[in-house]
Amino acid sequence: MVACPSCRCARILIHVDAGRRARCLDCGATWLQDGAWQHSVTAAGNGSAARAVAKISVPNGVSSMDLALAVVGELQRAARAEVVGHDVAGGVPEITLRLPVPLTRRLELQYMQIGSTIERAKELYRSVMENREALLTSLALAQEVRSHNRAALEQLVATRESARQLLSAAS
Ligand SMILES: [Zn+2]
Repeated sequence: MVACPSCRCARILIHVDAGRRARCLDCGATWLQDGAWQHSVTAAGNGSAARAVAKISVPNGVSSMDLALAVVGELQRAARAEVVGHDVAGGVPEITLRLPVPLTRRLELQYMQIGSTIERAKELYRSVMENREALLTSLALAQEVRSHNRAALEQLVATRESARQLLSAAS
């Protein structure tokens, strides 16, 4: 029995390709399974472990092809999966399935999208309001400077006028 070198769990997934990369369905550790020899073990980081979503017991003597066909058959039966293609890429057989997505899940995704759009709109609104605030502040500042300048000019004119009056009174 092959077990995870990290947590000793027996629920593991071995990729049926030349790489023989195996992954623990419990802790998410990965390693190379070379016969009974395990090497290049990578322990799963915190929270990044791929969790098992289904537990399938495989009786002795069942090949990986039998298992794959059984899983596809079960997905066709229970989840109305549709086989849309099969191929062998790099020596690895592939089966492409199309699965109907339940309406609730679709709505959930749309709801999430709408949520993020609203969030983005709020951000834009906030940034526009901040810019508007800054614009109003500089406008008020400019008006203040202008009225200050006008007052200074009026004072200058008044000073010149009183100087002229003083001069004409003196002469
Ligand atoms: Zn493990």
